[in-house]
Amino acid sequence: MAAPKVAVVGAGVIGLSTALCIVETCPSCSVTVLSEQFSPNTTSDVAAGMLIPHTYPGTPIHVQKQWFKETFTYLFAISNSAEASEAGIHLVSGWQVFKNTPKEELPFWSDVVLGFRPMSEAELQKFPQHQFGQAFTTLKCDCPPYLLWLEKRLKATGVQMYTRKVADLWELHSEYNIVVNCTGIGAHQLVGDKKLFPVRGQVLKVHAPWVKNFIRDGDGITYIYPGIHRITIGGTREKENWNLSPDPGTTKDIFDRCCSLEPSLQGAQDIKVKVGLRPSRQCVRLQREVLSQGGVKLLVVHNYGHGAGGFSVHRGTAKEAARLVRECIAALQGASSRAKL
Ligand code: FAD
Repeated sequence: MAAPKVAVVGAGVIGLSTALCIVETCPSCSVTVLSEQFSPNTTSDVAAGMLIPHTYPGTPIHVQKQWFKETFTYLFAISNSAEASEAGIHLVSGWQVFKNTPKEELPFWSDVVLGFRPMSEAELQKFPQHQFGQAFTTLKCDCPPYLLWLEKRLKATGVQMYTRKVADLWELHSEYNIVVNCTGIGAHQLVGDKKLFPVRGQVLKVHAPWVKNFIRDGDGITYIYPGIHRITIGGTREKENWNLSPDPGTTKDIFDRCCSLEPSLQGAQDIKVKVGLRPSRQCVRLQREVLSQGGVKLLVVHNYGHGAGGFSVHRGTAKEAARLVRECIAALQGASSRAKL
């Protein structure tokens, strides 16, 4: 059989990392990325890119932990290499603080991040409205540089990238053997997935280089995440809200909430407002599907629905999607040798 032709649809963190894992683990494939938008115009560009997992209620915890661990290990190696600054990957230490002690004092990911421990009384004095906290070191992706780094690596291996909106996965069947669907919230329309819904997030990207530690309120809504050049402060979680326009009232509310956690942010400058739609679902859709029309089959692998945690698990889910692509290739090769008999 000729080299299998694989189309990856989507160029956010999920599409690009999935394309890279396919290239790394199936070198005989010819891989093309097709996407309506590339960086800097994806949801992935808006994200803070912190490696603190979100919990998917429909996915077993050991699977989520495996995805997170694989992602952490992969990015930790980049952060410890000469590529770190170009890839926008760095270690960041800080605190997650709670107004009331949470039921689960040890989250499932506590032994994956570095140096996880309860905060001391002295540290908690920085947060007079909070009574419990956890200190740890994790990784952060500066999202647009990381996406560009992934694109550069893909181009270096010969992957072609085209701007194209796909209206129906079937339109790809004459050109490709396997289609990998990494369209994020776009899958709502593309494959009519009614279990997928947007959770709108508004954030501010500010210049405040004196803030070095991350601070996250345990409710997950208010956070301060320092990047290499700018700080992402947030945020909102608005279920089923498709509005991509920034709301000025929300901007003021975010700024006030973050200043109450870190008063020195009052001096922040060059405030830019961004909005993104988290592609949310009870569980990530990571599965094979065979589409069939008039006796013609199209092999599809879905990898979308990462909600609030796409950066935290992207490498783990990309590896699993690449494994599913290898299963599809084995099925194609089996069918091709049977046809020759
Ligand atoms: P996207 O980045 O949306 O990419 C989808 C791609 O598919 C795009 O290129 C799009 O153009 C393309 N596409 C869609 N439909 C079609 C079509 N029909 N044809 C062709 N192309 C199509 N996660 C974390 O882990 N840590 C964080 O700190 C974090 N912070 C966040 C903060 C905010 C405010 C938001 C909104 C999200 C945050 N997230 C965070 C979540 C993270 O951003 C998402 O989980 C992740 O970006 C999803 O990536 P994706 O590649 O699936 O989607």
